[in-house]
Amino acid sequence: MNASKWVTKLVVCFSLTCLAACAPSSTRPLEQSPTNHITSPIPHRPERIEGEFEEQTPSASPPVHSPDHGTRYYFDVNLDYDAKILSVDQTVSYTNNTGYTISLLPLRVPPSYQAGVFLLTSLQIEQIQPEMKSEIKGTMIHLQFDPPLEPGQQIEINLNYQLYPTHGWNTLGYNQRQLLLADWYPMVPPHRDGPGWVINPPGQVGEHLAYPLSDIHMNLCLAPTQQPVVIAASAPLADQADDCYRYEAQQVRNFSLAISPEYQLATAESDLVTVLAYTFPEHSGLGQRAADLAVQSWATFTDLFGDNQRNFISIVEADIFDGLETDGLIYLSEWYYQTADPSPRNLFELLVVHETAHQWFYAHIHNDQAFEPWLDEALTTYSEVLFYEANHPQLVDWWWDYRVAAFEPEGAVNASIYDFYHFRPYINAVYLRGALFLQALRDEIGDQAFFEALWHYAQLEGASDHWRTADDFIGAFSQVSDADLTPIFSEFFQ
Ligand SMILES: [Zn+2]
Repeated sequence: MNASKWVTKLVVCFSLTCLAACAPSSTRPLEQSPTNHITSPIPHRPERIEGEFEEQTPSASPPVHSPDHGTRYYFDVNLDYDAKILSVDQTVSYTNNTGYTISLLPLRVPPSYQAGVFLLTSLQIEQIQPEMKSEIKGTMIHLQFDPPLEPGQQIEINLNYQLYPTHGWNTLGYNQRQLLLADWYPMVPPHRDGPGWVINPPGQVGEHLAYPLSDIHMNLCLAPTQQPVVIAASAPLADQADDCYRYEAQQVRNFSLAISPEYQLATAESDLVTVLAYTFPEHSGLGQRAADLAVQSWATFTDLFGDNQRNFISIVEADIFDGLETDGLIYLSEWYYQTADPSPRNLFELLVVHETAHQWFYAHIHNDQAFEPWLDEALTTYSEVLFYEANHPQLVDWWWDYRVAAFEPEGAVNASIYDFYHFRPYINAVYLRGALFLQALRDEIGDQAFFEALWHYAQLEGASDHWRTADDFIGAFSQVSDADLTPIFSEFFQ
């Protein structure tokens, strides 16, 4: 951005450190983590962080929910891969689409969950705000406005910061083989009518962030490296000039990267999607298989759930504990590649299918991943068996035995991430009993109504950000069937 455009300047020179709730060191979502039968007392269930924003006042103006006025992020990033340091110039073009007059805008800063990773060097607000204060609160930046922002009003916020990813098995971190960049930048959280800003703290398991749809404009320049590196991104490369790479993504949840001197690339495409699969050299034979499988899954899920405006995905082998979905990029543990046999009966196949399904249930439509994780995880787990029904019908019984029955799952499907200390009980309740719950619904109302409800749930328009709640799910099923589903909900929900 042109520096002369900025009048009100606030320059701060301190790092955000994790003052309270830090993410667990293994970071985010584990789709199929190792069995852990240790039981623990139920942890305290936190409240959403809403009280600090109660000064919002409803406006006479109707809410503005036009995607054309969603948040836009502009990044100029210089990456020193060998030193594992990023210098970031980020501009957030924010339009107040809450429908309220707001005097406080929160920015979430996920990289600050780990101490020493995020170093903010400057924060500037466009001239339109004569009085603006910023306050660092834990892993948040609060921007306070006087006068407040009216509905439809737009501001631009410019941040300069450096990132120092840590060594380890994190999806924001590095090791000798790669650098992973997920949830690496300050972001505006979703705002919901009623609950307000969706700002959930990290839990011991699962994912807690929620992402409104936004546009991304990314310019990434690499400092000279000892070895050439390969960049995997959650959007296709729009342009390249020397060592600078430009990416554009419209109406996406987030923007993620993975960079390594070792990645081998395989590609597959159909008229629906282009898939780029990045593997380490020892697993290069599995790259094409992953890409082909994602293309096949995309076709199945388009048939079942309807169109997805996305048409691109990267699948990245990563030294992490499990799989992680982002919008347009899937991180998949190298362990799944190590353990893949030639058959479709392994976790490598299941996880590629599962993470591809997240491009519908997470990316295309979105939900509160902390308080209603079943809305994406139960549906993506059940999507696995739907894929097998369509493509390997002889393996459906195997799937139920291998994926579900073997774990004798118990627990409430609609539990939050805060109800668990360990992954296995979380997976069992939300993912596996979630699949059993969906099968019970299907058995009760029949295939035609069941798939009609899923289609309607996935394609339902009218909600800002394509956001979904349990009420939307129940509403979709009540539209297609008069059956009394109460006993099923009573059996599986708490
Ligand atoms: Zn998942």
